[in-house]
Amino acid sequence: MDNIVKQSYKSEILDILADVIADYISPNARDIDQTGNFPKENIDALAKEGFLGLIIPEDIGGLGGSPSLYKDVVIEIAKVCASTAMIYVQHTSAVSILLYGAHQPYIRECLDKIAKGEYLATIALSEPESGVYFFLPVSQVSLKCDGSFSLSAKKSMVTSAGEADLYVVNSRSSNSKNSLQSNFYVLTKDQKGIYVGEMPKLMGLRGNNSAPIEMKDCRIESKALIGNEGDGFKISREKLLPIGQLGISALQVGIAKAIYRESVEYVKNRFYIHNEKSLASFQSIQQIIAEMKIECDRAERSLEYMACQMEKGKLDMVTLLEIKIIACEAVLKLANLCLKVCGGYAYSAHSSLERYIRDSKAGTVLGPTPELLKELIGKIILDIPASI
Ligand SMILES: Cc1cc2nc3c(=O)[nH]c(=O)nc-3n(C[C@H](O)[C@H](O)[C@H](O)COP(=O)(O)OP(=O)(O)OC[C@H]3O[C@@H](n4cnc5c(N)ncnc54)[C@H](O)[C@@H]3O)c2cc1C
Repeated sequence: MDNIVKQSYKSEILDILADVIADYISPNARDIDQTGNFPKENIDALAKEGFLGLIIPEDIGGLGGSPSLYKDVVIEIAKVCASTAMIYVQHTSAVSILLYGAHQPYIRECLDKIAKGEYLATIALSEPESGVYFFLPVSQVSLKCDGSFSLSAKKSMVTSAGEADLYVVNSRSSNSKNSLQSNFYVLTKDQKGIYVGEMPKLMGLRGNNSAPIEMKDCRIESKALIGNEGDGFKISREKLLPIGQLGISALQVGIAKAIYRESVEYVKNRFYIHNEKSLASFQSIQQIIAEMKIECDRAERSLEYMACQMEKGKLDMVTLLEIKIIACEAVLKLANLCLKVCGGYAYSAHSSLERYIRDSKAGTVLGPTPELLKELIGKIILDIPASI
């Protein structure tokens, strides 16, 4: 696609998204946060318009969206409902893994169904034994004599648990000696041996249905292995990490932009009778609003740069790891600053700001966490292997 065609395709997709947001995601947002209900109507509307297959190439039936378009879509959804954005991000991360096996007939079938909007996917990776190091599973499959595998594993927190049609899971391969030798498999939700645990009440992203999942002697057909035996770590690094980092960072930039938008609105409209001054007239408030804008712009430009580098095939590992730290620090800063300019309004559940502030904390906890990312960047700089 040349640049003009790309641009018009991008704005066409974003126009369709704007309608889905106006008709479903925006009106449902407050209720989803308050009830913690899974935003099924939002996901169905996104599926109907093809968004579940956004990054799937057109020859597999997807929209063939670029990384830059993907991050714009996530930002727009997160500006309104971070829970829906989180479900969409974990879905797209699962798709990125499936794309590695797009040449395999069964995996291709799964991608077809996703592109048609029939399947929602998610990633079930984190384990209690490995915590934030979700790419280093401790669970291990055993190979059965008929060529199938058996998996017993505990996954500590899985977005869209009980709601997704497909779970992309990782586990040590049958003959592996350590967590670097792992595999990815795709499981369907109705498979025997998959148990969804109790849903904890979350601080933020309350509608994303994160719950533990246990697989007990779950039979996995050999066709469900994504790629070859032992490809797990390679898939994590080459497929999951770029799309995962882009998606989670875009989610945080979306929340930051929502906080900024609502703070500006509040400051512009707040007027004091006692001294006949507007809040906007105070220099320190003007400076905070400027600081919020600078922070949002900095994070968004970094994200755009990363997406461009991905498209050119020139993304270096440090940029890839840095992006989530930048987005995470930006949204946390915005969440703090909005309290300084919006006061009780931001602190109260009457405003959407209170929800955004809670949602803003998720990036600090989601693997790979900023601390882990800093550790990995430090190791790259100091020439220390990432596996230790
Ligand atoms: C809303 C939500 C949705 C999620 N959805 C999914 C999902 O769909 N799929 C999935 O697989 N997982 C999911 N997770 C899990 C998530 O990605 C993390 O892996 C998990 O929450 C972190 O594991 P833990 O709580 O065991 O942290 P721990 O491993 O117990 O870590 C605790 C803290 O210690 C820090 N820490 C750990 N090691 C180091 C170190 N070497 N140096 C400095 N600090 C360190 C971490 O940064 C962390 O803050 C989700 C989590 C949340 C909150």
